[in-house]
Amino acid sequence: MKRIGAHVSASGGVFNAPINAQNIGAKAFALFTKNQRQWLAKPLDEETIKKFKEELEKSEILSQYVLPHDSYLINLGHPEVEKRQKSLEAFIDEVKRCELLGLDKLNFHPGSHLGEISEEECLAFISSCMNKTLEQTKGVTLVIENTAGQGSNLGYKMEHLKYLIDNSIDKERVGVCIDTCHLFASGYDFRSVKTYENTMNTFDTIVGFKYLKGMHLNDAKSKLGSRVDRHHSIGCGEIGLEAFKLIMNDERIDEIPMVLETIDESIWAQEIELLYSLIDK
Ligand SMILES: [Zn+2]
Ligand SMILES: [Zn+2]
Repeated sequence: MKRIGAHVSASGGVFNAPINAQNIGAKAFALFTKNQRQWLAKPLDEETIKKFKEELEKSEILSQYVLPHDSYLINLGHPEVEKRQKSLEAFIDEVKRCELLGLDKLNFHPGSHLGEISEEECLAFISSCMNKTLEQTKGVTLVIENTAGQGSNLGYKMEHLKYLIDNSIDKERVGVCIDTCHLFASGYDFRSVKTYENTMNTFDTIVGFKYLKGMHLNDAKSKLGSRVDRHHSIGCGEIGLEAFKLIMNDERIDEIPMVLETIDESIWAQEIELLYSLIDK
């Protein structure tokens, strides 16, 4: 079964996210558990945690279909040791927030070399930070998102994801999230049956579907291989509806959170309906 939702607002408190998800007919959702543009957040208090769990239960969305996203400030591959350390501490804090909320995943972007170190060095830093996090936390899977490869962001090649999995000290707690806009912008085509099979088989060979823990469903304003990250509403961009039809009918992508990060949140409910309507009866 497909679990479609969106990255909903948690403004006013994390407990608002399941309410917002329910309001658009979502069967999954993503959220930030703190302000994504700030380093510090006040710790989650008992009352907030309790309220989140209550609202989640009311929404009838199981915790495994919730895909929290970490802060945009975190760069686990930062070339400077102090800044990498700051990122690591913030990342561990994010994982612990997920633990407290009873959530079992944290979605993050691998990191950026900022043009100061090689891709290999940067990947090694990211891997080391992931392993330190795994040592200091429990129960939360680190879900690496593929990226468009804009600027110096790593994660635009499936081999980057594979490296981070291969070097993880706990393979049970590492996974990946495919963002369709990022996949397309980083040069992987999947707009026809043939290109879809080719890209997904490549993914299965290099990474493996068993590591697929979530998807971000976005059409793209940017072109194939442009390495520019510009999301668009489903069916309105360069990717087009056929690709989403193939995804919606791919049984390898069942029972994971699949969330919209499309640009017009006023049509998320319709987009969710549209995606479900693509499933062959
Ligand atoms: Zn992301
Ligand atoms: Zn994304």
